[in-house]
Amino acid sequence: MATTTNYFDVVVIGAGPTGLGAAKRLSQINGPSWALFEVNPKAGGLSATDETPEGFLIDYGGHVVFSHYKYFDECLDEALPRAEDWHRHQRISYIRYKDTWVPYPFQNNISVLPIEDQVDCLDGMIDAALESRSATTKPTNFDEWTLRNLGKGISNAFMRPYSFKVWAIEPTKMQCQWLGERVAAPDVKKAVTNVLRNHTAGNWGPNATFRFPASGGTGGIWTAVAKTLPQRNLHFNQAVERIDEVQKVIHLADGSGVRYGSLITTMPLDRLVSQLTQKEQYSGCETLFHSATHVIGIGVRGFRPSRVGNTCWYYFPGDNCPFYRATIFSNYAPANVPRAEKLLPTLRLADGSSPESTQPTLGPYWSLLLEVSESRLKPVDRETIVEDCIKGLVNTGLLASSDEIVMTYHKYCDHGYPTPTLERNRILEEALPALKSRSIYSRGRFGSWKYEVSNQDHSFMLGVEAVDHIVYGSVELTLDYPDVVNGRKNDERSLHKMAGR
Ligand SMILES: Cc1cc2nc3c(=O)[nH]c(=O)nc-3n(C[C@H](O)[C@H](O)[C@H](O)COP(=O)(O)OP(=O)(O)OC[C@H]3O[C@@H](n4cnc5c(N)ncnc54)[C@H](O)[C@@H]3O)c2cc1C
Repeated sequence: MATTTNYFDVVVIGAGPTGLGAAKRLSQINGPSWALFEVNPKAGGLSATDETPEGFLIDYGGHVVFSHYKYFDECLDEALPRAEDWHRHQRISYIRYKDTWVPYPFQNNISVLPIEDQVDCLDGMIDAALESRSATTKPTNFDEWTLRNLGKGISNAFMRPYSFKVWAIEPTKMQCQWLGERVAAPDVKKAVTNVLRNHTAGNWGPNATFRFPASGGTGGIWTAVAKTLPQRNLHFNQAVERIDEVQKVIHLADGSGVRYGSLITTMPLDRLVSQLTQKEQYSGCETLFHSATHVIGIGVRGFRPSRVGNTCWYYFPGDNCPFYRATIFSNYAPANVPRAEKLLPTLRLADGSSPESTQPTLGPYWSLLLEVSESRLKPVDRETIVEDCIKGLVNTGLLASSDEIVMTYHKYCDHGYPTPTLERNRILEEALPALKSRSIYSRGRFGSWKYEVSNQDHSFMLGVEAVDHIVYGSVELTLDYPDVVNGRKNDERSLHKMAGR
């Protein structure tokens, strides 16, 4: 428990991946005194996992681990070292378009679309390729980027509706500098050849294969990483309520204060600023746009149906379901669902009707994890969202009307996606250096608000690099050069070579 007399060279707020990355690096360096404060009772932040009373595990959204960094890989290997700690998967994912399942990515697989859509998509791609030859300017927003790179056909069929469903904002209001490896640029020749040969092309991108923890869900990674740290430095159930950046003191909910030399905070930047003494100096941060994420879990009795097979996840641009993504979460690890011997009652059938019996009976079980975005531009009826999702599962063919639902779960994450809006860079370029001049390092998915470096690997390394900057003055590559870190495997840092320095 903290007291007002405590002082640490570095204080870290938050035990999500960013805070744990900072803590990991601090624990390696013999020197600075440090402490971490986390409001929740467990580590993980947005990468944590809940267990439902029925025994289903649910991540806060579909999380897969992929990595740009050797140091991150080594920290995960240290935390979960045995081969049996992980399941390894090849990404199998589809897009629901009209009544067709299109292998991901859409733009490489238009050969499976109805013929009229194939014509539209190819027409658009050819026009876009021709226009790009004479273009003298860069696209100014995400919608323009999509039109120029993928053409009108693909934009209208998939990118525009899907983008709005994920981001909860029109793509014209988003910038496009954040892109890079995240969208597969089309190859017109390949697209035409694939259509003529009736071929499909999958496995594009950084997460074509991934590993998933055998137990505890994604959150199991972060509770294991937290166990590798000195426990005396970690303070859970401790909310930071106010920060005096002039006196360099954080004030905790229990009334105590902790003084710091440098502060690494991973709470959302808009909330951080609202806690500061001189908040007016950081005006603009409160206008940073973000979407919220509703996470809906559904547990179903029975063997996994052949219609889902070993698919990892599906994307849904259409308006016959509220979710933009559905993950077959039971496919990631057997421990994500209760064992077949577990007796559970049927709560309802998928079509809303009552089961013949509510007596608990045996499994097996499988599960779905759905994500729905919300913003002031895309409201969601929170009362009916679970019911609307189940209807959407029936509409899209993922559930049969007679499927027995044994578990429903709903979690609302107020800060889900840090939106790269047109104004974002200007706000960050003012706020982050101004905070740094006060020894405050706001880092992480919502700490530094850069979607392009906001996955678990990036977040962890934002924490590591912030510490190295504070102690050694080194460059924060992930924060300042996202294209560089995303364009290669970053192996300069090694956990084993950096102990004690
Ligand atoms: C829907 C969704 C899908 C995602 N999919 C993927 C994926 O497939 N792959 C991937 O790698 N990443 C994915 N991510 C991103 C991943 O969740 C983040 O990279 C990661 O959790 C960010 O870590 P962080 O530490 O920066 O922030 P957070 O995880 O948000 O952690 C911040 C921590 O700070 C604590 N905190 C906040 N305020 C206070 C306070 N005042 N006092 C004390 N503690 C406080 C919070 O409780 C929290 O634990 C996804 C995220 C979402 C929402």
